Amino acid sequence: MQDNIRSSASVVGEALSGGRLTIDRDAIAANWRLLEGHLKAGTTCAATIKADGYGTGATGTAQSLWDAGCKTFFVALPGEGLILREALPDATIYILGGLFPGAAGDLQSARLIPVLNSVPEVEEWAAFCRAQGQKSKAALQLNTGMNRLGMDPNEFANVMARPEITDSFDQALLMTHLACGSDPDHPLNRRQLEAFRAATDPFRQIPRSMANSAGVFLGENYHFDLARPGISLFGGKAIDTQANVMAPVAMVEARIMQVRFVPAGQTIGYGGAATAQRDLKVALVAAGYADGLLRRAGSSDDRPGGFGQIGRHKVPLIGRVSMDMIAVDVTDVPGDLASRGSFVEMLGPNVDAADLAAYADTIDYEYLTSLGQRYHRRYQPLPTPDQK
Ligand SMILES: *Cc1c(COP(=O)(O)O)cnc(C)c1O
Repeated sequence: MQDNIRSSASVVGEALSGGRLTIDRDAIAANWRLLEGHLKAGTTCAATIKADGYGTGATGTAQSLWDAGCKTFFVALPGEGLILREALPDATIYILGGLFPGAAGDLQSARLIPVLNSVPEVEEWAAFCRAQGQKSKAALQLNTGMNRLGMDPNEFANVMARPEITDSFDQALLMTHLACGSDPDHPLNRRQLEAFRAATDPFRQIPRSMANSAGVFLGENYHFDLARPGISLFGGKAIDTQANVMAPVAMVEARIMQVRFVPAGQTIGYGGAATAQRDLKVALVAAGYADGLLRRAGSSDDRPGGFGQIGRHKVPLIGRVSMDMIAVDVTDVPGDLASRGSFVEMLGPNVDAADLAAYADTIDYEYLTSLGQRYHRRYQPLPTPDQK
């Protein structure tokens, strides 16, 4: 089955693609069920699938989650919401980016629910709903210390004291977002929790939501009525200090175009950044930073790079990552496992997204959402580790 919004990329068959991207939608659904099982009784598990479902294809992912029992979704942008609405006519869809000026009509006609992040957004939505004579739903976001989007508690209290506002639309959800949830000991978590409670306790009739993936694992105090995990659905690790219990859902494999021998002392790739310390066998694989393989994950003489894997063998990136290719050191890979046409796993059951991302000083979120359009995409179960 092909994903609608990716079909243009997937018409290129595997034989003509540099790499293939395998998405395991059953694993995404299984991860959602696992997260749902962590929530306290009565908390609904939603799904955050912004940025094209963290690179996995938003509509196909949403369909799998819907079939698993997920009925509520969060995306960042109105345009993402429209795409999702076409796929899921009955889903509840929130727009985290809020109400863009003049967008109320488009949101309302697609039954998309804006997360109102500021007083001007609240006022615009209220005025629009009054003019339409229709009490459409909106969420209200509070800033409890992250200082990204949302109203400060006093702004929220003022808004909730204005009947011409509260009577004009349906306040469907009160939300806030954790800044440091990945670190369970961070004092800001508790401070945000207390600020959220203090501001919203007077409105107990309205459902509340605080937990992203990390919040699911921080404990029941953080669950409230609705959780909205994202990265954990896609196999990401939510808590820095705990083992990752989520199943991997995506695998990137890049094709070896050429194998060459590089004598000790010569350099590999742009800038001559990496010098062969011994005679090397090097494989050039057909995926680069244009395919989301982070350029900073390359190696130089001063700094190690990330790893791919062939069979059971870890293969270090050597030299800079180019736009369309990378070099990996296959000197220690036995036999013809690393030969023209074979594939190197760059992400998947054996290569954690967070690991490669760490070599590039970034996070798995960025790696997943950077996976480019050039892969041959296929939707099927991932192999178990080490067996391909
Ligand atoms: C992205 C996002 C989420 C999901 O966060 P994860 O860390 O991926 O689980 C939830 N809420 C808001 C407001 C977000 O921006």
